[in-house]
Amino acid sequence: MTLIPSTLERIRRHLVGLRMPRALETLDSTVRQLERGEISALEALEGLLGEELTLREGRRIKAALKMGRLINIKTLEGFDFSFQPSLDRNRIMTLAQLDFIARHEVLHFLGQPGCGKTHLALALGVEAVKGGHSVYFMTLADLITSLAKAEREGNLRERLRFLCRPQLLIVDEIGYLPVIPGGGNLFFQLVNARYERGAMILTSNRGFAEWGEVFNDPVVATALLDRLLHHAIVVHIEGASYRLRRHADLIPDNNRVRPINQPNQPKPRGRPPKNKQA
Ligand code: ADP
Ligand code: MG
Repeated sequence: MTLIPSTLERIRRHLVGLRMPRALETLDSTVRQLERGEISALEALEGLLGEELTLREGRRIKAALKMGRLINIKTLEGFDFSFQPSLDRNRIMTLAQLDFIARHEVLHFLGQPGCGKTHLALALGVEAVKGGHSVYFMTLADLITSLAKAEREGNLRERLRFLCRPQLLIVDEIGYLPVIPGGGNLFFQLVNARYERGAMILTSNRGFAEWGEVFNDPVVATALLDRLLHHAIVVHIEGASYRLRRHADLIPDNNRVRPINQPNQPKPRGRPPKNKQA
């Protein structure tokens, strides 16, 4: 089968007009394969469109990761489950199916520093982006700083609206740094605005019973946990720090892995949680 040049030239112009650079690039080799009878016309079409789609998907994912501040990319493939035997690989893989996002649930990763909380939160964020969900990642400290700034500048409503937009909001490092006065209240406003409307992943090195201390305000902590544990999935990682895996002998005994306080969950209101196990 030989394509007359003018047809080929018209295809080229169409691909330029349609902004399909990757298909344009592969056009010549595809035509050669066609002429040699190595592929059918349908296969040629499929190949050209597939190449273009792959390029676009790659670009979309790259842009969405950047927009969502998922800069430090971690993957599930890069997570060594054998290092954390307390963690059920199947459970994490089920979470990676992302049904919790559609159900607007809150996923908590709890565990000592270095046990992989941020890694798993980022990896699920990457999966969510690949799956076409909008994702935004922040540490609690950055989140509160940005809300406080917005409040000072009279933009709190807009800022809250912005943070309600992503289908998945990841809030990392709850409990590491002291929360500034009024910070708990600002975080509560966000949590309340997203409640039953958008999914979240939270990571913390502190048990829920310690949140009064974390937020320096037991009343706000109770109100926060009331929302954040209602439709919640709690994953405890009980293992040791991956960062210190070769230096475990250097850590004083009283800092070695100890389970985080079991959750002191407030009584859920209304209907029971939809899904306790993932
Ligand atoms: P946490 O947030 O719990 O303090 P991180 O997720 O930041 O811990 O993990 C610390 C470092 O160790 C990161 O570079 C992370 O990618 C890596 N890491 C942690 N756990 C694992 C694991 N099981 N397999 C591979 N890398 C891991
Ligand atoms: Mg972390």
